[in-house]
Amino acid sequence: MVEIIKEIVKMMPEGTISDASFEGANIVLYTKDKEFFVDNKGLIREAVEAFKKRIELRPDPSKCLDPEKAEKVIRKFFPEDAGISQILFDPQRSIVIIEAEKPGLAIGKQGSMLKDLREQIMWVPYVRRTPAIKSPLIENIRAVLYQHSDYRRKFLDKIGHRIYDGWTRAKKSEWVRLTYLGGGRQVGRSCLFLQTPESRILLDCGINVAADTPEEMYPHMDAPEFNIADLDAVVLTHAHIDHSGFIPYLYKMGFRGPVYCTAPTRDISALICLDSVKIAKAENQEPLFDQDDIKEMVKHTITLEYEEVHDITPDVRITMYNAGHILGSAVIHMNIGNGLHNFVYTGDIKFGRSVLLEPTHCQFPRCETLTLEATYGGKNDIQPPGFEADQKLCEAIKATVARGGKVLMPVLGTGKAQDVMVMIERLVRSKELAPLPVYLDGMLWDITAIHTAYPEFLNQELRRLIFHKDENPFLSAIFKRVGSVKERQDVIEYEGPCVILATSGMLTGGPSVEYLKNLADNPKNALVFTCYLPEGTLGHRIFNMGAKELVFKHGVKQEVCKINLEVMKITVSDHADRKQLMNYIYKVYPKPKRVLVNHGEISKCLDLASSIHKQHRIETIAPRNLDTLRLR
Ligand code: ZN
Repeated sequence: MVEIIKEIVKMMPEGTISDASFEGANIVLYTKDKEFFVDNKGLIREAVEAFKKRIELRPDPSKCLDPEKAEKVIRKFFPEDAGISQILFDPQRSIVIIEAEKPGLAIGKQGSMLKDLREQIMWVPYVRRTPAIKSPLIENIRAVLYQHSDYRRKFLDKIGHRIYDGWTRAKKSEWVRLTYLGGGRQVGRSCLFLQTPESRILLDCGINVAADTPEEMYPHMDAPEFNIADLDAVVLTHAHIDHSGFIPYLYKMGFRGPVYCTAPTRDISALICLDSVKIAKAENQEPLFDQDDIKEMVKHTITLEYEEVHDITPDVRITMYNAGHILGSAVIHMNIGNGLHNFVYTGDIKFGRSVLLEPTHCQFPRCETLTLEATYGGKNDIQPPGFEADQKLCEAIKATVARGGKVLMPVLGTGKAQDVMVMIERLVRSKELAPLPVYLDGMLWDITAIHTAYPEFLNQELRRLIFHKDENPFLSAIFKRVGSVKERQDVIEYEGPCVILATSGMLTGGPSVEYLKNLADNPKNALVFTCYLPEGTLGHRIFNMGAKELVFKHGVKQEVCKINLEVMKITVSDHADRKQLMNYIYKVYPKPKRVLVNHGEISKCLDLASSIHKQHRIETIAPRNLDTLRLR
């Protein structure tokens, strides 16, 4: 038995613990003693205090009530309003997952209902929300985890051994290094590599979709520091492809370690990666990885809640905080070497309230080095306030509707699309806009479903609508799913005015380009961009360079497309603008000793770094790709 488990077991009455295992960094004790399982007299809490680890007590599998009988008890136990749907047993871990439409009603005040239920069934019940919108893809993800529960159990135990073998109370590391494998002075392929004597960790691992060559598109996996065979873990801030898109490839190359992220990030990343495979195949290109590699990623993902402290290697402990960027996005705090160095990586953040989310978190237990994004870090990157975007969007839709046209909005898969949905629904509900169909193409529907599965990640106002008033904006009848090529054709041929939301946001491929080809020549229609348009994308050519004609090549055939529709851009940004970034440095607590600026064009990174230095007298660096810094 590993030292830490031996010490914990010593704290329990003799003979009560029948078995113990790791589930990642969590320690699980099993008992055959019913009395002790029902009331451990605060001993588990004492152990948690003493070891600063998550420790859970479960009944020994031999003591669990027969699943058939337990299911009957569970169904009878909860009030009808709780809306219990699926009940899934994981017999090797003595866990039962109960899906409920209203988890609050099933859990009771401070978990009171679950406590009673535990006693009756001798299983550990977990209540999970049934997504308000059904999505086969979410069900698939959950099924993958369920089908492989035996593999998961062994995998999580292995992770625990990696963290705790050789565990001693005061582990000290001597140094910390950080190498930029991507995302240095650029937007796209974010990938940081953190090394200590004990750990090798990737922070994000994305793809630069705007790049033309593989050398520019993928992170520098060929850097001499990096060896995939030694990689301990990937920590993922959020699901955007420039942060997550390369992870399945790591599994294709044989990586079998964990990815740490929030639950929505796991689900959305899997969807976005699956979509990228689909798009590549539709365009007759060889996809970088296939569905099985994405499945491996899902199988190896360990989800964390915000503000949950979690060991990931012997000398690195991470905590995720709300980043305010997209659903499930996180700022990562890393406590390295038991307090030797505290590193904060913001990923992408928004430091203001958005339609969907609360502003990013800015208080940390400690922080010596902060890595800040600079997408809108340039001097002139000042965004209009949110209500102006609402107004502009409303006017754009009204004007297009009045002339009988269609509004095409290319959107990123996640974030913007749901922002726009909530904005339109609000306009319709307040009668500022007459109801009209809003089509969601392809995976946008699934990503919206994920938003309904994790409302606890949304801002207070949306949560209030969803929980208390049953006015879930995502369930409005104006939203229609477009699930096939045939249905897409129906939308194109639909006679009346409508709004079409489709990926990709930058017109780098996907359904938005298909709609554009069909809608572009009609001046009644409108094309409304909603996101950052990097150079090299079709979006940049149309909006920034004013292209009036596009040529699409299909082998030897050419398709010429005239741009006659109205073109505009409405910034519903999910990034902090220059003002917010400067304000973030002002507000962040404690004040970091050093700020690394990344995830922005060269001039923006340099300008933001120099302004932060001038105003705050903090050391700032804008690292280039392949730069290595010694943090400590
Ligand atoms: Zn992002």
